[in-house]
Amino acid sequence: MTHHGLKALGASLLLTALLSPALADEGVTAWRLFVSDHERGVVSVVDPDARETLASFDIHGPASLYRSDSGETVFAVQGAADRVTAIASGISFDDHGDHADIEVEDARLLDVAFEGGKPSHFVEHGGDIAIFFDGDGRAMTTTERAILDGSAEVLEFDSGAPHHGAAAAFANHVLITEPHPEDPSNLPVGVRVLAMSGEAIGDLHECPDLHGEASTGNIMAFACAKGLLIVQSQNNQPHIEQLAYSDDLPEGKVTILIGGRGLQYFLGNYGASAVVLIDPMDDDAFRLVELLTRRVHFAVDPIRAKFAYVFTEDGALHQIDVLAGKIVNTASLTEPYSMDGHWSDPRPRVAVAGDHVVVTDPLAGKLHLVERDGLEKAGEIEVEGKPFNIVSVGGTGAVDDDGDHDHEASASHDHAHEDDEAEEHRHD
Ligand code: ZN
Repeated sequence: MTHHGLKALGASLLLTALLSPALADEGVTAWRLFVSDHERGVVSVVDPDARETLASFDIHGPASLYRSDSGETVFAVQGAADRVTAIASGISFDDHGDHADIEVEDARLLDVAFEGGKPSHFVEHGGDIAIFFDGDGRAMTTTERAILDGSAEVLEFDSGAPHHGAAAAFANHVLITEPHPEDPSNLPVGVRVLAMSGEAIGDLHECPDLHGEASTGNIMAFACAKGLLIVQSQNNQPHIEQLAYSDDLPEGKVTILIGGRGLQYFLGNYGASAVVLIDPMDDDAFRLVELLTRRVHFAVDPIRAKFAYVFTEDGALHQIDVLAGKIVNTASLTEPYSMDGHWSDPRPRVAVAGDHVVVTDPLAGKLHLVERDGLEKAGEIEVEGKPFNIVSVGGTGAVDDDGDHDHEASASHDHAHEDDEAEEHRHD
């Protein structure tokens, strides 16, 4: 099979990798981990290099965490507490074209919260944010800029009925799930395109059992029972096509989707003991990567884009080479976390912070740090309670301390985008 799309992007990835060392010498690298507790409404801010907790914020309930593309904002989606809280990460980059300045401040709770019935899926696309509230069947959209400016102007869009849905802002329109017509407690049956006025445009794009959405590059996808909906921008309108699962895949479907950074691909679950690599631009779009035990969580590497990571219930972390389509490293990290039992039991989650892969170990009350190269253990950080969901923000930038930019410091920068966290939500 050919992977022309992946290869083309791989070349630019190599360029970035070659240019980064010069920056590392003269720039400043800062990473922060945001970790939510499985039982309590707390988000801890952890410095993975100093190995210490910098702050912990009280919120209203246990949260799924998402980070924005820019990394300036972290969102705590508290489904049971009917709200989404915004946190300024304290790390921002000012892009000067040939380099980026990094600014590091304290993380802080923003005075912006989105309230509504049972918020579930959170989607950012290019700075536009959409939050779907299952209990209301409505979506709120806003922008990261507005949130950081403290002016949370919000638009609302109605799907027609409460259901476990999702929405996304895309190409000056809003994509919103269509509830199941007979029983909205079932998964949605498709996607509608709405104008910003709320008016529906065109026909329903069918996607039975819709669950899971992600973006990679300029492509968005929704996962359905028989394949994906692939969304691209055409004449500043969303253009949606079906991509059926290939015949050589076993019985199954994707219900969690994340998007590659630096390489254009999607990574999804597929059955209990596999993940699937998806390159929608390839004739042979689906490559299954089988696991020895059941999958717990997975994440993409935002910097070394050819890697992704899967954690399995035997307590092992696996590194996947996305280009080769196979596991290249495995490290045993935690006690087993069986996938038997309740779907929402505390189990590890994975994030990538620079050269480290970080795995939460909720029952042991700690984070495991692992070297990206070779998956050697690099230490542990204790976190009070049951550290569960995790996102990381950070990267390397030049320091603009006297207003005179050191333009020789860098020819490139790595904004270190964390993946769209494989979503965690409550289906009860
Ligand atoms: Zn969901």
